[in-house]
Amino acid sequence: MLDEVKVRQFTELTATDPQNELGFFSLGRVYLEGGSPQQAIAPLMRALSINPSLSRAYVLLAQSQIGAGDPEGAQATLFKGYRVAQEQGDLMPRNQMADLLKELGAAVPEDTPQKLTPELQAAGQIQCRRCNRVGPKMPKRPFSGPLGEQIHESICGPCFQLWIRQGTKVINELRLNLTDRSSQDVYDQHMKEFLNLN
Ligand SMILES: [Zn+2]
Repeated sequence: MLDEVKVRQFTELTATDPQNELGFFSLGRVYLEGGSPQQAIAPLMRALSINPSLSRAYVLLAQSQIGAGDPEGAQATLFKGYRVAQEQGDLMPRNQMADLLKELGAAVPEDTPQKLTPELQAAGQIQCRRCNRVGPKMPKRPFSGPLGEQIHESICGPCFQLWIRQGTKVINELRLNLTDRSSQDVYDQHMKEFLNLN
């Protein structure tokens, strides 16, 4: 079922701000989730032309292309997106793209991640859930509560820094007002997707 209210909201957002990558990304997602993969393709491509490192957009674009009956296009998107996600340490999109490549019967590039040893752990390192690399644990929880605790235990410092930058973009581009419950939900959804939490 296509969410017409959101389609209108993100169409307006992108019409007034043609560089709004998250607006185009969100518009594509609403179309894909609403069962209109064909219509999702153009806004997702637009989001990627604004920001080619937006790895989650490759996942949605490939799914849209598959849904629209273009597996060759999806495969090309996935090869490119997989490389981007791999370089940036975006574990969740990378794994989703590996699964889609397998579904399409295509080869998945190899990867051997670094493993956390007791020595590295004693030196303040953790195996990060987002990038799957061994990286420095933050000196303290980024914020209070169970989510802050989960992030402290499972997300490396550099990845959380990346989220701070991305989170600012989410607030600005999607015009969120965090005192408002539905804005807070949108923000949390982006944070959990970015950090590979659930
Ligand atoms: Zn990390």
